[in-house]
Amino acid sequence: MIPALPASEGYGYRPGTSGLRLYCEDVALDELATRFGTPLYIYSRRAIETGYMAYRSALKNRSAQVCYAVKANSNLAVLDVLARLGAGFDIVSSGELARVVAAGGDASKVVFSGVGKTEREIGAALNANIACFNVESAPELDRIDAAAQRLSKRARVSLRVNPDINARTHPYISTGLKNNKFGVAYDDALPLARLTAQKTAVDLVGIGCHIGSQITEIAPYIEAVDRIVDLIEALAREGVAVGHIDIGGGLGIRYRTEENPPLISDLIAALLSRLDSRGQQHLTVIFEPGRSIVGNAGMLLTRVEYLKPGASKNFAIVDAAMNDLIRPALYDAWMDVVPVAPRTSSPERYDIVGPVCESSDWLARDRALALHPGDLLAIASAGAYAMAMSSNYNTRARPAEVMVSGSQAYCVRQREAISELFASESRLP
Ligand SMILES: *Cc1c(COP(=O)(O)O)cnc(C)c1O
Repeated sequence: MIPALPASEGYGYRPGTSGLRLYCEDVALDELATRFGTPLYIYSRRAIETGYMAYRSALKNRSAQVCYAVKANSNLAVLDVLARLGAGFDIVSSGELARVVAAGGDASKVVFSGVGKTEREIGAALNANIACFNVESAPELDRIDAAAQRLSKRARVSLRVNPDINARTHPYISTGLKNNKFGVAYDDALPLARLTAQKTAVDLVGIGCHIGSQITEIAPYIEAVDRIVDLIEALAREGVAVGHIDIGGGLGIRYRTEENPPLISDLIAALLSRLDSRGQQHLTVIFEPGRSIVGNAGMLLTRVEYLKPGASKNFAIVDAAMNDLIRPALYDAWMDVVPVAPRTSSPERYDIVGPVCESSDWLARDRALALHPGDLLAIASAGAYAMAMSSNYNTRARPAEVMVSGSQAYCVRQREAISELFASESRLP
């Protein structure tokens, strides 16, 4: 039986001389392990392109910009692939702006989100002539206005409003509720928009929101859009016209087979039709998707170091750990774990854990697998919030990253060397 894979575009099993093997596009994962070592992040270029193009095609001829949320996976090769397709970028720091520029991205298609933009970051973004700042508070607006005056620039801003919508996702990744730190409180949005219109060096170009991540229903988006359109209409009545609505990102992906998030095409169709029925077909639409473009395009390849039978459960200790992939430890996230070369022997139940000295260092729990030490496992749907959230905890060098395109595999980030990890530290004189 061929093990089921979640909707991982770009991955699949193929028969070989010694049984099934897992492939990314036309490259076998065991060959990547031999060539680049483990743990190893693998990305399918085709899957990333398919994700982005799903947004583009659904938007048809609508005036729209898809701004990929860099924080989901900020590897230069990922940004490069998307920049070549004409993507814009949603950034949350000047570090991400530098990455976008280094990857050949177009700064004039960058929107800058985040509650804590520093003066230096605002200056860098103004100098790069980004498309727009997504402003999250009144003091931030003042700061942007002052910086633009100082640099003799005009700053385009959009207000990120908190629509007080329950996106019905994990509390850590829900951002559109009243008690979240994100966005301008709904009741403060109109006064702040009026204030923006009066600023010296600032132009109000849009209103937007971002209500959370791993959202698996269309309804919360529609609710949010309705609330934002209410604001846009109220502003129009006062003679303040804005050119765009930013709907944020957040569309969920399938991590396990029984999950059924909406298709990108269905979400976009529903949103566009809502905007039309509200008489807002003239608005440019901005999306900021991260996970739904790269999430299913990545896998983390890891090798079983030891099998440790326990009194109540068995452990498979692998060479990847929570420092490489923190989603299970941080969000209790369920990620699929599949064998690279499935065995025909009968499975046992294992917790898949890493070598880090924390009980929260687990990658998966209670999985039925037939394993031997030395076997390769792939953790699926690890393209988003995976390598981007990695750390060097336990002085572990982070994995290499490989992008597969057809039958080619490119190393797009070298495995860290141990000596690099403390190269910028020093002993006392
Ligand atoms: C993280 C983030 C996104 C992307 O969210 P996904 O769930 O990865 O699509 C978009 N916009 C903002 C402001 C964000 O913080």
